[in-house]
Amino acid sequence: MAGTTRPGLYVHVPFCRTKCPYCAFKSTTETARIGDWLSALEREAEGRRGLFGWYDTLYVGGGTPSVLSDADLRRLMGTLLGTFHFTRDLEATIEVNPGDVDEAKAELLYGLGFNRISMGVQSFVQPELEFLGRRHNAARALWSFDVFRGAGFESLGLDLIQGLPGQTVEARLESLKRAVELGPEHLSCYELGFEPGTPFYEARRKGKLSPPDGDAAAEGFLATSEYLEDSGFLHYEVSNYARDERHRSRHNRKYWRHVPVLGLGPAAHSFDGRTRWWNVPDVAEYCRRLGSGDSAVQETEDLGPDQLRLERLALGFRTREGVDRKNLGDVARAQSLLDRLVMEGLVTVSDTRVQPTREGLCVADGLARGFCDL
Ligand code: SF4
Repeated sequence: MAGTTRPGLYVHVPFCRTKCPYCAFKSTTETARIGDWLSALEREAEGRRGLFGWYDTLYVGGGTPSVLSDADLRRLMGTLLGTFHFTRDLEATIEVNPGDVDEAKAELLYGLGFNRISMGVQSFVQPELEFLGRRHNAARALWSFDVFRGAGFESLGLDLIQGLPGQTVEARLESLKRAVELGPEHLSCYELGFEPGTPFYEARRKGKLSPPDGDAAAEGFLATSEYLEDSGFLHYEVSNYARDERHRSRHNRKYWRHVPVLGLGPAAHSFDGRTRWWNVPDVAEYCRRLGSGDSAVQETEDLGPDQLRLERLALGFRTREGVDRKNLGDVARAQSLLDRLVMEGLVTVSDTRVQPTREGLCVADGLARGFCDL
C-alpha cells in the first residue's frame, strides 16, 4: 500500500560534514556530539515507546544520516528496533550524501533493514555542484547509485535542486536527463530557496544573486514536469515524482494526509491527528534536556477543526490526489470558484474530489488560498 493510516516514525540526524550555503535545515558540523545525541535519542525513544502502535514507515533524515559511523548506525537501528513495533512491509528510508558512500556502507544499510535510499545528488552539472557548495562531484553520484543497486536496493530516489540563478531550461533538463538515464524509482526536484540566515539569503539581499523571476520559475517547473512525465514518471506532488504508484513515498504521504507521525531528535515534529509538537532545534539543548530527565518538546499546538480543514486544503492542493470536495467550504461560493479554475485549466473536478492539473500544481499554494475563506 502506498498510503496507509498507520503511523510513521521520523528520526532527525542533525549532523553534516560541511554546511551548504543555501541550507536552512537544522544541522551542525559538530560531529563530536554524535555520541551525546544518540544517548539523548535513546532516552527520547524510550519515553515515546507506547505512544502509537505499529509503524509502517521509518524515515531517517537530516542533516546527513550517512555521516554516522557504522557503529553509530548499528546502535541507532538497534534502539529503534528494540523500542518500537514495525510492520513486516515497513518502508525504511535513509537519506545519504553520495560523498559518504562505499560498498561496505551500502551493504551495511541494506543489512540493517533499510529498503529505500534518498540520495542528495542536487545536480549532475559540475559547475552547479560547486555553486551549491556540495562536497561530491557528478561522477561520484553516478558511482554511488550503482553501489546501492549492487547492494540490493530496489528503491532508489535522487534529490535535485533546480532554479539556480541564470539556469536555463536546457541546463535544468541536463541533470534530469542524466537522472532518468540512471533509472531511479523516485525523484524529488526542489526549487532553490533563499532562506533567512543562509549565505545565499545574504548574497541575494546584497544583490549578488538573483533567483529566476516568476515567469522563468513557472516555465522551469512546467518543463521539469513535462519531461519527467514523458519519461514515465508520475508527478504526484509539487516536488515529487515516482516511477509508479508503488514507489511514491509512503512516509511523506503521511504528512500530506494528516496521518500520525512520531518525530525523534532535535527540531523533529510530531503529530497525533489533532496535536502537533516539536522539539528544541539546538543539539546541545536537546541533549541537556533529555540528559536531565526533561522533555525535549519546545512547543505544542492543538489544531481545531478549522485549522485542520485549512491544512487539508493547503496540503491536498500540493498533491495530484487533490482535495475532498467536503473540505471546500460554502458550497455555492466554492462552485463558482471551481468553475473558474476548471476554465483556466488549473483543476479537474469529479463528484468527490478536486485535483490540480500540472498547471495547478505550479500555483498550488494560490489554489488553497482561494478556498480558505469560503
Ligand atoms: S543541504 Fe543537506 S548536506 Fe547540505 S547542510 Fe543542508 S542538510 Fe547538510
